[in-house]
Amino acid sequence: MKRELVAPCGMNCNLCSWVVDPSKPGCAGCRPRGRGCVHKKGLCRKLAKQEIDFCHQCGEFPCPSLLLVEKRYVRAHNYSFVENLNYIRKQGMPAFLKREIKRYSCPSCGKLLTVHSDICPHCGQRHNRKNRR
Ligand SMILES: [Zn+2]
Repeated sequence: MKRELVAPCGMNCNLCSWVVDPSKPGCAGCRPRGRGCVHKKGLCRKLAKQEIDFCHQCGEFPCPSLLLVEKRYVRAHNYSFVENLNYIRKQGMPAFLKREIKRYSCPSCGKLLTVHSDICPHCGQRHNRKNRR
């Protein structure tokens, strides 16, 4: 799991179906693409100017535009960017990545699941996202 694939907003691109799923067209991840953050592109001057590396380093964290995508991901995918960033802030990146591997390894094949689907992109087994806490 790559550190540079954790986006400024707290999305872990290591677990994005566009990055992981071999059946999708593929994406290098928000940071490697140099877009700052896909969810907030064009909306945040500090991210655009690279004044901050993660949203939690900003005085306005969590700002309304982050909370918008936060609400959507918690509801649709049971995945919280704000919780990720708070964990990174308190425990550090290596501990966060370790926890993500533990939470998101497929119980059937051991490879990484995605936050976007109940179906493992590698072995096709279904693992309910509601239970991944
Ligand atoms: Zn699997």
